[in-house]
Amino acid sequence: MIHEVMKPSGVKAHVGVIGGSGLYDPGIVEDPVEVWVSTPYGKPSDAITVGRVGEVSVAFLPRHGRGHTLPPHRVNYRANIWALKALGVKWVISVSAVGSLREDYRPGDFVVPDQFIDMTKCRPYTFYDGPVTVHVSMADPFCEDLRSRIIAATRGLGYPIHDRGTYVCIEGPRFSTRAESRVWRDVFKADIVGMTLVPEVNLACEAELCYATLAMVTDYDVWAERPVTAAEVEKIMAENVKRAREILARLIPSLTGDPDPGKCSCCRALSHAVV
Ligand SMILES: [Zn+2]
Repeated sequence: MIHEVMKPSGVKAHVGVIGGSGLYDPGIVEDPVEVWVSTPYGKPSDAITVGRVGEVSVAFLPRHGRGHTLPPHRVNYRANIWALKALGVKWVISVSAVGSLREDYRPGDFVVPDQFIDMTKCRPYTFYDGPVTVHVSMADPFCEDLRSRIIAATRGLGYPIHDRGTYVCIEGPRFSTRAESRVWRDVFKADIVGMTLVPEVNLACEAELCYATLAMVTDYDVWAERPVTAAEVEKIMAENVKRAREILARLIPSLTGDPDPGKCSCCRALSHAVV
């Protein structure tokens, strides 16, 4: 039974999932309860669905809101990450649709990026606006342990996945020009392009959460000069979303314990970062 509560008292979750374009409803969560979490930064993108996948408690949040009412530059990334942290989440799986900058990263493929380049322009990038100043390390921006678990779950299902990739995050909401797309590909040597990774990834780091992204390639970016119709993109996206649900259903039940500090340093991200 679904009901809404304004405060998450007693409602806890271990794994957070932030759904991107096309993934507005988790579909795999048992015993769902919808929770609105109030944060110092205002409202998250939507009510959070809290329930279980197997024995593991999960909080699902659609990044753009159900009905896709929030464009990438209007998403309240701070409220979203704060809300997941407030629910007790330790692992965050971020799902997002991306364009490909390489011939061999084909529409329909999955990518688990290991690096990003930030080309956004005007977003709130930190929880620490002073007087406390924090400089977190972004040398290796994603949780290596979670990355390898996502890759294993996807491979286990036989879906095409690239285990590395540089994600260039653009401001949007417009797509890149041809000249920009060629810069991302030929000068930056980036592999995929999207609009939502930053500042979600760095805020997750400041919140000392284990965070990794499952990116779904929907099309080739404009460098390829290979125009696609909205119907083609929609078809690929629908198939990707179906597969993403299967991957989550396989992955989440394995995230039982707390992150192992021997396998990643996410939970210590602030230990040398506070000035
Ligand atoms: Zn980690």
